[in-house]
Amino acid sequence: MDAEKRIKELISLLNEANYNYYVLDKPTITDQEYDKYLRELEVLENKYPEYAYPDSPTKRVGGEVIDKFNKVTHKIPLLSISDVFNEDEIREFDNRIKKMGIEPEYVCELKIDGLAVSLQYEKGVLVRGATRGDGIIGEDITHNVKTIKVIPLKLNEPIDIEVRGEIYMDKKTLAKLNKERELNGEPLLQNVRNAAAGSVRQLDSKIAAKRNLNNFIYHLPNPLDYGINTHMEALNFMKSLGFKVNPVNRLVSSIDEAIDFIHEYTEKREELPYEIDGVVIKVNDIKKQDELGRTAKYPRWVIAYKFPHSDVLTKLVDIIFTVGRTGQITPNAVLEPVLVMGSTITRATLHNEDFVNNLGLMIGDTVLVHKAGDVIPEVKGALKERRVGIEKPFKMISECPICHTKLIKKEGQVDYYCPNDLCPARGIEGLIHFASRDAMNIDGLGDEIIEDFYNEGFLTSITDFYHLEEHEEEILTLEGFGKKSFQNMIDAVNNSKKNSLEKLLFGLGIPGVGSKTAKLLAEYYGDIDNLMNASIEELKTIRDIGSILADNIYNYFKENRNLIDALKMLDINMKYLGIKKKVNDYFTNKKFVMTGTISFMNRDEIRALIEEYNGTFSESVSKKTDVVIVGESPGSKYTKAKDLGITIWNEETFKNILDKLEDK
Ligand code: NAD
Repeated sequence: MDAEKRIKELISLLNEANYNYYVLDKPTITDQEYDKYLRELEVLENKYPEYAYPDSPTKRVGGEVIDKFNKVTHKIPLLSISDVFNEDEIREFDNRIKKMGIEPEYVCELKIDGLAVSLQYEKGVLVRGATRGDGIIGEDITHNVKTIKVIPLKLNEPIDIEVRGEIYMDKKTLAKLNKERELNGEPLLQNVRNAAAGSVRQLDSKIAAKRNLNNFIYHLPNPLDYGINTHMEALNFMKSLGFKVNPVNRLVSSIDEAIDFIHEYTEKREELPYEIDGVVIKVNDIKKQDELGRTAKYPRWVIAYKFPHSDVLTKLVDIIFTVGRTGQITPNAVLEPVLVMGSTITRATLHNEDFVNNLGLMIGDTVLVHKAGDVIPEVKGALKERRVGIEKPFKMISECPICHTKLIKKEGQVDYYCPNDLCPARGIEGLIHFASRDAMNIDGLGDEIIEDFYNEGFLTSITDFYHLEEHEEEILTLEGFGKKSFQNMIDAVNNSKKNSLEKLLFGLGIPGVGSKTAKLLAEYYGDIDNLMNASIEELKTIRDIGSILADNIYNYFKENRNLIDALKMLDINMKYLGIKKKVNDYFTNKKFVMTGTISFMNRDEIRALIEEYNGTFSESVSKKTDVVIVGESPGSKYTKAKDLGITIWNEETFKNILDKLEDK
């Protein structure tokens, strides 16, 4: 599409969204979509400055002012704040400031999700409250502001002053309100931002009075008039006048520390009583702020880092079916690629036929996908109002997509199964499972390699892993294999022979036996022969083993004695090697600090692991720190660790150490 046409399209789309959001308090697109379109427009306008239109939302603040309110002209405009979405953009902001010869100190504040308010006091008495409006002209909401208990009607000093802040609604207040609305059959309020905005932009102040709104003050527009030279002083001054200033803020002397603040509050966000959608970073020195100035829309001395959106909209392009190692058929959503919480999502499991039907999904729908932290993405539903008539209904398949055997559904169960034991998809999945980390943990044999080896005929049964060496010549001709990687793979295969029994039991893929049950069985029986000789009755006496599972285990060993004998002949350990010692050279009695993100383990899991081995996990780096674990996008702790010469483990080192632990 040509650039001019797209620019015009985006301007009209975003202006309409602004109107619905700011004027009607009824957004029709999500914030994620809004931010995405605005970014696209900014990029295009930068590239094609000849298509700069005055009505572009990149040049205007907020929305229009509606006539039902009296208008208030802001003496100093209420601007928007330039958004950034990642650490690179935060550092760019810092670099731009430094390029102007300014060495900044920053104040980090939480970005409260509500709506901006300007409060005017004369001789210490509240005379006016106004919304931001279009930045120059706002709406007079004094009657509603007066109902908010934390906003002082009279200050501790009889001065003339304007202050600015955020009117917001606590999470608990919204939950309570929505419960009442549900009981009364009223439509629910979408989120805290709309609830707060919808409450103060009412002519009848009784509504706002009932909504129990809250407020934080965070800005003094003309501090120099009061002899105030820094933003931090301004916050303290406003507090002394009787305003509620958020106690969570931090003065920092480097952008690294600001990034640390962001990491900290990304984690603490859920615990806060109010919603935040990011962190605001402000230059502390007022004269430096003035020096930096502003654009038409944003001051240049402040940015808002926005947390990644955990709920995003994307298109359901198709629903495809996969076959698991037990033959279970799973419908999977094929999604138009979308960035959620830092990773691009293209697939999401739809579990089973009932799940898809309960959500009423159609192929071609706009769907809401949710992903919080490192949790697996989930399709939450479809936006049925966005259908255009070309969407296709979902239809469950009746044949295996791989071997075309007729699928079966067991009584009382929701899942369909491919009953063909020789189905290639099941074979491959079973092999992948056997080699996986929690099972035999054969490094260097990823899913694709296993599939290739299956197709080449090197791997058909799990015993074949232990004969791979015999295919050296053929494997070395395959793309991506050299002598070294081949040898590493063989070493990993041979190492897996020494695993404790529970890993083998899990790897065998006995229906219903997960890694926890495998451990339980290994601990209980100590050796595979004892387990194979156990009767169903005996198995059922074990804690957590019910009759279905007992049947499964018994039948599996009845049918697979030959396989177990073949594995024994290959020298695979069949004994439980005891509880892993809680002492090791890597963790025990050592002090750890972590910075950045490790892709395969979250912070809490790492902490738990270290503590399990009697190591300590602390928040800040000091001379006493033994090791700093450094993941992606590390903060200032990394620099500090390097300065102090502390041992650093990157993701790879950390993973190698964990692998060694597992091998023991
Ligand atoms: P913004 O959300 O990008 O940030 C500026 C605002 O942050 C300020 O006006 C202030 O109200 C608030 N704020 C909270 N805590 C603060 C603090 N400690 N210090 C300073 N300011 C603080 O600005 P905006 O222009 O109001 O809104 C733009 C955003 O609103 C978009 O990025 C989008 O997410 C959302 N939006 C959504 C739609 C939609 O249709 N869904 C439409 C328009 C805007």
